[in-house]
Amino acid sequence: MSLSGILKQYWGFDDFRPLQREAMEQVVSDRDSVVVLPTGGGKSLCFQAPALLKSGTAVVVSPLISLMKDQVDALRAVGIEASFLNSSLDRTCFRAVEDDLRAGRLKILYIAPERLVRDDFLALLETVDVPFFAVDEAHCISMWGHDFRPEYRALRILGDRFPRTSVHAYTATATAHVRRDIARELGLRDPAVLVGCFDRPNLVYKAERRSDRMGQIRSILDRHPSESSIVYCIRRKDVDQVAASLASKGYRALPYHAGMTDEDRKENQEAFVREDADIIVATVAFGMGIDKSNVRCVIHAGAPKSLEHYQQETGRAGRDGLEAECRLLYSGGDFRIWRLFIDEMEPEAREIALRKLNDMYAYCTGLSCRHRSLSVYFGQDLDQENCGACDVCLGDLKLAPEPMILGQKILSCVVRLREMYGAAYTVQVLCGSEQEIVKQRGHDALSTYGLLEDERKRSVRDWIEQLVDQGYLERRGEYGVLGVTAAGWRVLKGEEAPRLLEAPEKKKPASVARAVIESWEGVDNDLFEKLRGLRLEKARELGVPAFIVFGDAALRDMARLKPTSPADFLNVHGVGQKKCDDFGEAFTAAVAEHLQSSKESGAELA
Ligand code: ADP
Ligand code: ZN
Repeated sequence: MSLSGILKQYWGFDDFRPLQREAMEQVVSDRDSVVVLPTGGGKSLCFQAPALLKSGTAVVVSPLISLMKDQVDALRAVGIEASFLNSSLDRTCFRAVEDDLRAGRLKILYIAPERLVRDDFLALLETVDVPFFAVDEAHCISMWGHDFRPEYRALRILGDRFPRTSVHAYTATATAHVRRDIARELGLRDPAVLVGCFDRPNLVYKAERRSDRMGQIRSILDRHPSESSIVYCIRRKDVDQVAASLASKGYRALPYHAGMTDEDRKENQEAFVREDADIIVATVAFGMGIDKSNVRCVIHAGAPKSLEHYQQETGRAGRDGLEAECRLLYSGGDFRIWRLFIDEMEPEAREIALRKLNDMYAYCTGLSCRHRSLSVYFGQDLDQENCGACDVCLGDLKLAPEPMILGQKILSCVVRLREMYGAAYTVQVLCGSEQEIVKQRGHDALSTYGLLEDERKRSVRDWIEQLVDQGYLERRGEYGVLGVTAAGWRVLKGEEAPRLLEAPEKKKPASVARAVIESWEGVDNDLFEKLRGLRLEKARELGVPAFIVFGDAALRDMARLKPTSPADFLNVHGVGQKKCDDFGEAFTAAVAEHLQSSKESGAELA
């Protein structure tokens, strides 16, 4: 069978993702390779599909125990013999898997690196037919990656012990430095190096100032009712507060951070994966080993400390290739928190960390396409005028006209108030408030009184916050009175202009990205919901996560094509032979029932 035949028969996919075919061909032709694809780019298939074309058992090294089980479950669900070996297995299970391996019953074996390199295991491997080794998360071998694991260094031995077996490395970490480390440390022989495009066009990126944390978070989550979402917070206490607040409002939200017991953490993670909870509120501690493909929304309730982190955390959204929303809520305070951490670092590390933090800040407040900014940061250009999937390109962000003059009006009011009042009061004066207290203090006589009376108070308040964020104003003393900084004086002298955004219109409906419209095109929403219920039912019966039964893309395609026969069912994206056999009957019956009942209700109306 051909590679594309395998893709169709087992996974029900019609096309390769970019570079997938090329990556598979390296495996087929036994040429060592380093494959760099973004999260969700479909790396697993690059070694799983070729394993079916070869005799024997392909060995896959993976550092993530929880991920191994999901991968193996997913392989079995499409009818491929697979198992894993790691420390989560007891002796009996271990023996059983080793027996399967010896007897050649496995197509694919997942294994933790420290197991693989044990002498007894290598000796066992030498007696079985291993067509190739795949090293997943290969950046773990490099100290320059973000997740160095010393046990990966031992994998070098593979080249010596199995000189005729090809080795293939896969990672989502893009820098050239890491790539070189991988090839060298694994001792790869003239490897083919394939680097994919890092842009994730299905993710819609938006960044906005945080003004009303819970209000903003809830209005975003409300766009994704009963869909899987992640809310990232900087600190544990923020996690606890946000999770509790959401839960009290009836959201199915659970917390996750390193201050919880292992058991509680595991429980919450599993509830999220199995869709007993919709929302996980977490620190950076959450995410490694989460292979959930249908996360539809990732909110950052505070700015992360680097774009590497941002890319990785938002990368957990939309791994199935369907649209997903990534919203970043930032404030100047986030950066102050990070600086406190950074201050305690060693000088060299501090310099790097500060540079990364500044890049993060520039991204937050930037006005160029988010997709392009991220791509450029990771060393790739993006030649597209309008991505159609970020706040900048969708026209959500509007610059205030004449920011220099606007900034001068606000700053001079602070000066006239002799730097003795807070933001709320300054707004009152600028907007020409009739309040008694303003008159009593004689502030209605200031030249800056009512200078911005045509603007909404909300906007003026927002501009003050923006001036604080940008370091033109600062809060001083116990009461946080506003003061003008040296940079602020440069604005007053007309030497420098701040960058001020219009506050978003409250009533304006949020812009809908192109990807959203396209991927719901022709989908019967009622039917989709019914099928989703059925999917959950099946997943519970089998004790696997819902996305192992079918991904969201498959479900939407079902609700679009409305198949009522097995032959039609096989045409659905993501349905291969095994899943058709296993689930075809139940799902086509549900479709038929839906069609029947909508016909009946249609007849009533007529
Ligand atoms: P990665 O390991 O690169 O993050 P995965 O291998 O987990 O990505 O794949 C991400 C998702 O994309 C999975 O749900 C997978 O089934 C799906 N996928 C992979 N290849 C294809 C393809 N050729 N067509 C459609 N979906 C695919
Ligand atoms: Zn854009």
